[in-house]
Amino acid sequence: MEIHPTLPPLTDAQKRYAFSHCFKHEALVRKKNSDEYICLECGHSFKASPSAGPLILSTVGDKVICPHCGMELDVKLSPRRSASKKICETFQLITTTWEFQIVRNFYVFQTTMPGTGADYWIGEVSQIYQMPGRSTIVVARPRVGLCSCYSDIYRYDMPMSIKYNTDFYEFGATVVYPRQKVLPIITRNGYCKELKSYFPVETFRRLIGNPKYETLAKAKRFDIWFNLESYKISLYWEQIKMLIRHDYRPDDVTMWYDTLDITKQLNLDIKSPKYVLPGDLKGMHDMLYKRLQKKRRAQEAARKREEMAKKKEYERLYKKHNAKLLTIVIVSGDITIKPLQNYKEFVAEGEAMHHCVENYWKRKESLILSARSGNTRIATIELDRSDFHVKQCRGVCNEVPKRYQEICNILESHKNDFVKATKSRRKAV
Ligand SMILES: [Zn+2]
Repeated sequence: MEIHPTLPPLTDAQKRYAFSHCFKHEALVRKKNSDEYICLECGHSFKASPSAGPLILSTVGDKVICPHCGMELDVKLSPRRSASKKICETFQLITTTWEFQIVRNFYVFQTTMPGTGADYWIGEVSQIYQMPGRSTIVVARPRVGLCSCYSDIYRYDMPMSIKYNTDFYEFGATVVYPRQKVLPIITRNGYCKELKSYFPVETFRRLIGNPKYETLAKAKRFDIWFNLESYKISLYWEQIKMLIRHDYRPDDVTMWYDTLDITKQLNLDIKSPKYVLPGDLKGMHDMLYKRLQKKRRAQEAARKREEMAKKKEYERLYKKHNAKLLTIVIVSGDITIKPLQNYKEFVAEGEAMHHCVENYWKRKESLILSARSGNTRIATIELDRSDFHVKQCRGVCNEVPKRYQEICNILESHKNDFVKATKSRRKAV
């Protein structure tokens, strides 16, 4: 598809505009309060003092006009700079051909070095074609590498071709050329000077394909148009239409959206002018937000109560399920072994032994015991409830306890105590 060759090259006026508007134009001074300037545009040095003669036009604040090239320059203090500096900016041209709306993207380069004149260069990198009812077409030069951080990665010596991944080519340029040609449908749908500095491809897409944006543009509601939460336009379109009808202009659109979000969360009437068009937006926002916080606190308290009730119920089931097993206490020499009695004991055992026994609290197929010597915890044991053999016996930080074998032997010799307790519990049931 050969579209781009029909587009004309940049005119000299367009290039001049890009070079003068895309960059800062500077004069360097080597010392503070010095009246000796180096013009980075033409390379000349000059004095901006009355003694320098009638060529000096003026110095205004931090600006000075170079008597050699006539350029108004920003004064910059730079005691040592001698190297050349290259800056890249972007420039866009808005035009049309046939039925297409076109955005032409250029990279513009400025190279400056004290003592020599500035050098400028501009190169076209991509063209974006839009047409009502058609998807966007991008043609661009090949890029060297895939990184988008570097500006001069295009191959300017190679022709443009159609690109299928188009996202990268849509951007807002440093400068958009003010003389623009747009399709009649775009003008008819509300394109105006306020939209000229916005991302042009996105602007045209909105005006061609989304009647909501057409309404916003025609109603001059750029407060809504430019707000970054654009997805809320569809979400609150009914409310936005109310804004337009009543010419209500919130100082802060984000806060207005927030207020609607909260109104919704509080199950209040989202179509009521009381919330959509409040006399005092901040007052309404803050009042509703307090109500929302109160509601959230109440929900949180209810959740905690429910959690607590569930815990209590499980505690009851744990006791019922283990009934007589919990009364078993095995004493052998200085070692005492007994089952953990409740959730609190699981937490305490886990904290003291630095392991995750707490996760075993709801494990119905196991019985968890703590072995102590005097007041010192020496091991945590998991017994398999099917026959009460030792599944795990862990010391501090899940390590093998020093008296591992001794503890296993004690439990093995008392296995029947557990089996009997289970049977007697079954009988009792
Ligand atoms: Zn100059």
